[in-house]
Amino acid sequence: MTSRSEDYIKRMSDALRSGAKMLQETCPVCSSPLFSIRGEMWCLKCNKRVVKVSELDEVGEASIPYLLASISNTIYSKIEELNILLQRATEPEEIMKISNTLESLLRLIRESRRIAQEFRQET
Ligand SMILES: [Zn+2]
Repeated sequence: MTSRSEDYIKRMSDALRSGAKMLQETCPVCSSPLFSIRGEMWCLKCNKRVVKVSELDEVGEASIPYLLASISNTIYSKIEELNILLQRATEPEEIMKISNTLESLLRLIRESRRIAQEFRQET
């Protein structure tokens, strides 16, 4: 057994212990069963949140916090990438460009958190 699948099994048993439910839906990436954890859909194999686009359309505004969370995840991974680029950058112009992008991304995260919070307070 690879350590990867051991991780998966561990995550699965941890999730089930903490009250997660296995869903009938499957992950669009790896086809593993999805789990409902605190009202969110997770693929424990990919270790990622799953947001179904078709459902987002149907439930409309209520899904905005989910969408925002998904956007935040994307931004976080971009920030990680930019951080690596910034470490390697030597040209002042390049450093400026990366810093500016980072600044916008950080602002975006703050903004999406704020909006998500407003939504939580309303519902
Ligand atoms: Zn998956």
